[in-house]
Amino acid sequence: MTTSTAAAGPLMATYPPAPVTFVRGEGSYLWDDAGRRYLDLLSGLAVTSLGHAHPAVADALAEQARTLLHVSNLFGTVVGPEVAVTLDRLIGDGTPVGGKVFFCNSGAEANECAIKLARRFGGARLDRRPGSERPGAGGATSGAHVRGRHVVVSAFGSFHGRTLATLHATGQPAKHEPFQPLPEGFRHVAWHDLDDLERALDPSVAAVLLEPVQGEGGVNPADTAYFQGVRRLCDERGVLFMVDEVQTGLGRTGRWFGFQHHDVVPDVVTMAKALGNGVPIGACWARPGVADVFEPGDHATTYGGQPLATAAARAVLATMEAGDVPARAAAAGARLTAALEALPGVAGVRGPGLLLGVELDGLDARAVNADLLASGVVANAVTPTALRLAPSLLLTDDQIDDAVAAIAEVLSAHRAEGTTS
Ligand SMILES: *Cc1c(COP(=O)(O)O)cnc(C)c1O
Repeated sequence: MTTSTAAAGPLMATYPPAPVTFVRGEGSYLWDDAGRRYLDLLSGLAVTSLGHAHPAVADALAEQARTLLHVSNLFGTVVGPEVAVTLDRLIGDGTPVGGKVFFCNSGAEANECAIKLARRFGGARLDRRPGSERPGAGGATSGAHVRGRHVVVSAFGSFHGRTLATLHATGQPAKHEPFQPLPEGFRHVAWHDLDDLERALDPSVAAVLLEPVQGEGGVNPADTAYFQGVRRLCDERGVLFMVDEVQTGLGRTGRWFGFQHHDVVPDVVTMAKALGNGVPIGACWARPGVADVFEPGDHATTYGGQPLATAAARAVLATMEAGDVPARAAAAGARLTAALEALPGVAGVRGPGLLLGVELDGLDARAVNADLLASGVVANAVTPTALRLAPSLLLTDDQIDDAVAAIAEVLSAHRAEGTTS
């Protein structure tokens, strides 16, 4: 048995004790329970891409709450299908692809949908031929289970969620150990290594699942040669290329989706975080010919696609399109990156748009991050040596300059103290 530093209080101790309690937000600012203001460079983990309390989202939620929240997927609703059409067009970078969407409530659920879709596409079925019954199988359906292509290949250092299947897809073995046995059918390859991927693609493989930028893994962007190589290998082997855009999607990288930097078209795209600007919603898109393998009864979720959550998504997408927010993210990201790269104490800055990994030069990222918070700046130590910044895509130039000044001050204090990691 392991012991944990269980926090006193009513919540399970799955998170470290909170350093601050927030009670209000507006744009790129948060206020704590003592009334102190913070500049938010994390957006609730790349979620509130339009900032806190965005009026378009708040109004859409209030109006929808007074109209219709939920009726279940036994019945039709109007908002979800509208959002699905918009997502299909944005995935086609303005040109509808004709793919289809399954709505759910989180990033992990979007990836669960992708994994089930891959298995269905791979052809798992019951063998109903006479004599194929499994001894003692029992139940209403008899027949042996025939496995199709079913393995999902993902990368070491990836993050795909915390449900049992998405945990196994997550290429971080240390996170698997306490929860064995995990669902089978997952395989990991070295990140950014086409030879290793090629070796893994045997006939049991249904799909490759990759992030355009490994977010939780430390902000590690894929390059174009890798993504195009993955597409080519998947085409050669008849394997689906599924892209996890849960963190990178919807403008964060300076394009609508991270894969659009690489001139490839994936078969499946999952998204969540920014889609509701804080309202829980996820989505799994699949191209024509892949989406169609699902039949009624194959997959479901009670809340998925409900009017309230999709009303938030509709407002988010409309606001982003009207303001060409991906282009703003690209410009703001370039300004922030250039300023950070010039700071003493910064070894380098990774990542496209406003998903940035700031590699520190011999400083402890956790200690730096704690002092940033104390100085009124919210960021995240994504590795022992790197900060992650994922601010609102509407961060202004003045706020960028304030952020850089605050970071410069904390880095200079740490350099003076000589704290090392
Ligand atoms: C956050 C994240 C997930 C999981 O999303 P949840 O909403 O926490 O389930 C999956 N994939 C990536 C790339 C993520 O960043």
